[in-house]
Amino acid sequence: MRTVWVLGDQLNRSIGALADADPDRDRVLLVESHAKLTSKRWHRQRAHLVLAAMRRFADELRSAGFDVDHRRAASLRAGFREHVDEYAPGTVVATEPASWSGRELLRDLDVGLVRSNQFLCHYDEFDAWAADRRTLKMEDFYRWQRRRLGYLMDGDEPIGGRWNFDDENREPPPGPDHPGWPDPPRSRLDDVDREVLADLPSECWGAEPDGTWATSRRAALARLRHFVDHVLPVFGPHEDAMTTRSWHLAHSVLSPYLNIGLLLPGEVCDAVQDAFDAGDVPIASAEGFIRQVIGWREYVWGVYWRWMPEYRSANELGADRSLPPLFTGADTAMRCVAHTLQGVRDRAYAHHIQRLMVLGNLALLSGTDPWEMTDWMWSSFVDGAEWVMLPNVIGMSLHADGGRMASKPYAAGGNYIDTMSDYCGDCRFDRRARTGDDACPFTTLYWDFLARHHDRFVENARVARQVRAAERLGDLDAVRERAAEVLDLLDRGEL
Ligand code: SF4
Repeated sequence: MRTVWVLGDQLNRSIGALADADPDRDRVLLVESHAKLTSKRWHRQRAHLVLAAMRRFADELRSAGFDVDHRRAASLRAGFREHVDEYAPGTVVATEPASWSGRELLRDLDVGLVRSNQFLCHYDEFDAWAADRRTLKMEDFYRWQRRRLGYLMDGDEPIGGRWNFDDENREPPPGPDHPGWPDPPRSRLDDVDREVLADLPSECWGAEPDGTWATSRRAALARLRHFVDHVLPVFGPHEDAMTTRSWHLAHSVLSPYLNIGLLLPGEVCDAVQDAFDAGDVPIASAEGFIRQVIGWREYVWGVYWRWMPEYRSANELGADRSLPPLFTGADTAMRCVAHTLQGVRDRAYAHHIQRLMVLGNLALLSGTDPWEMTDWMWSSFVDGAEWVMLPNVIGMSLHADGGRMASKPYAAGGNYIDTMSDYCGDCRFDRRARTGDDACPFTTLYWDFLARHHDRFVENARVARQVRAAERLGDLDAVRERAAEVLDLLDRGEL
């Protein structure tokens, strides 16, 4: 018999090697690796999602008639060896893994790799698109994807006459009269969940799962349906807003399912296109969402494979600060950070602007080591994976790749956070002040960052004006002095 080895982020009958699998001919192997489970201090809800989804998927395959060898082993390699010793399969195949090290391992074990269809643009296709381009602009890639995939297109032109509705999708949080956004459905925990939770290592951290995250394909499809029917029509305007009134706003919160295979990007985009075609969704909402899936998500996937493995160690700004203790439990008086981290503790989730402009921004301004930040985000978020975190943290957030991915550093002071959130009003810091004990740490560190990296960014057209403004600050010495105090407090977990 042939063995089809399914990894923990390939949990779908339609993916690669499983797509043509036959219970009469194929046995399925799933390995729960102790080494992987203890390789990081995983958020409990992340570890639970993957293990519970694997166990449910094994049951689903058994119900479809497959013989499933679902084993626990010291490592993936050990699990594979034990399986081969016990079953002596004629051949072993697997879908191309989503991580560089996973692909290296499977090649080393001589596992036959079947082309991955988990993304709409395979990394070979991304490479072909990227060849001969001086810069890899996401917007160019996105339009190329729109044209070749046909989403929201009228012939060769975008429906609505525009490719981009971002201008309509950057509103600050609405006032108290806004009705809010529908909550995502919840699942009831069952015996599978309880068994998984009992098996998690004691090093796992964060709140216990409460059913927020679906752990089966059926439940993930229900989440998709709920999003398209109830949330998508209001998706977009508050995409970049942050508020203490809602953790999800109108975000789809479907990324955990896409990233482990419970949902596939094509079916998600098809559902959005259908809702748009039926007249249920405005173009700005449909376009904003499709952009995130076939644009950003697939772009990040493509650059990961194009720039690995050296991308992992990029550190162009020479950032060498250890991960500040507030990321691992120390309290902070910064309301924006405290609220965002509380969300991470409660549900292993923060939306993209909280990740980029609060957590990532703090790491950028403070000069936190890019790999330490990447590793923390990878282990802390329910949708974490190396391919998604490396470009988003190293490239987008920390500018550690020197601008290969983002042409400017996403640095911002308290004013930006105040505009896009309701955090600052009740904060003990003053977002306008850059010196003194009450100065907003983001504002102080923002000016200090621009002054510190003056030579690198002064010729960058997108930030040159701010760099020159930093140069002209009359109180720059005092700003630098306060920045040193802030960084000291940050290091001691007392900010
Ligand atoms: Fe965050 Fe500064 Fe606003 Fe406080 S004042 S919430 S620290 S941006």
